[in-house]
Amino acid sequence: MKSGLNILILGGDNRYLEVINILASNNMNIFLNGFNKLSFEDPSIHNLETSEIDFSIMDAILLPASGTDKDGEIEATYSNTSIRLTEKQLQQTPDHCTIYTGISNDFLDKITHSSNRKMVRLFARNDIAIYNSIPTAEATLKIAIEETDVTIHGSEVLVIGFGRVGITVARLFAALGAKVTVAARKSEHFARIAEMGLKSIETSRVENIVTNMDICINTVPHSIIGPKIIDQMKSSSLIIDLASKPGGTDFDYANEKGIKAIHALGLPGKTAPRTAGEIIGGVFLELLQA
Ligand code: NAP
Repeated sequence: MKSGLNILILGGDNRYLEVINILASNNMNIFLNGFNKLSFEDPSIHNLETSEIDFSIMDAILLPASGTDKDGEIEATYSNTSIRLTEKQLQQTPDHCTIYTGISNDFLDKITHSSNRKMVRLFARNDIAIYNSIPTAEATLKIAIEETDVTIHGSEVLVIGFGRVGITVARLFAALGAKVTVAARKSEHFARIAEMGLKSIETSRVENIVTNMDICINTVPHSIIGPKIIDQMKSSSLIIDLASKPGGTDFDYANEKGIKAIHALGLPGKTAPRTAGEIIGGVFLELLQA
């Protein structure tokens, strides 16, 4: 088991408090930037301002789930100053220093490539996506319970997409007695949906059944719930769109038609930050120690 690595954590939200705990209890040296609203007693945790960071000693850099914005700015819930990552900073790191981020963008791709540093996109990994689907599905259920005036048991629920999130959402709602239909497009997925005892429909044919649905949950990160589908919905239907920005729903049109449509993003961090932090921290530690 590797320990004593120098890990720089640049920004992050409440999930990262658990990540810090996990790293500290595994004897890593942790350097924080973007946490100046907090104080830490553990001597292995060094809470720094940007000017105090020695990039030349870092074995790894962990960025927030969101990575950076298009100019390198970093989300830092616990900082009252803005935090950035620059190409110049990366060039100061040792050759073996790896950059870990939730997701990436053109800016991050460009500066890691030009400084010749390896980057790992944690949220692109199947293990993280599947673990994360658990708090995501639970939070979706919470929204469904709060936003409807009927029980989930017995409700007609349409889950669009049968990937990591769609599978877990479909299973959870079905376990509560919802009548779940899954919209998919691959024959192997139809076989699995049948094996799970659920109904299915081709995604391209959703408009034919949507009239009966109490709740529509979208997990497809493309435009899916447009005017043709919304026009068929009853006014009491609820849309919960889980797909990353911009989502798969025409929110303006749903609003115009008086159908409640919620774009529910960042659910693991919002409703189960400790679990979400354990997921990120657990996989991150495993990668550091590999
Ligand atoms: P995934 O495993 O890649 O699943 C995506 C699903 O969408 C698959 O069933 C895929 O079908 C389907 N799909 C993709 N493009 C399509 C298209 N053009 N037409 C029809 N179906 C299409 O992704 P995931 O991990 O489940 O994540 C789904 C979304 O949720 C992503 O946007 C992710 O960022 C987001 N997410 C949100 C939260 C939150 O808190 N709201 C949490 C976690 C993830 P095929 O398999 O047939 O390609």
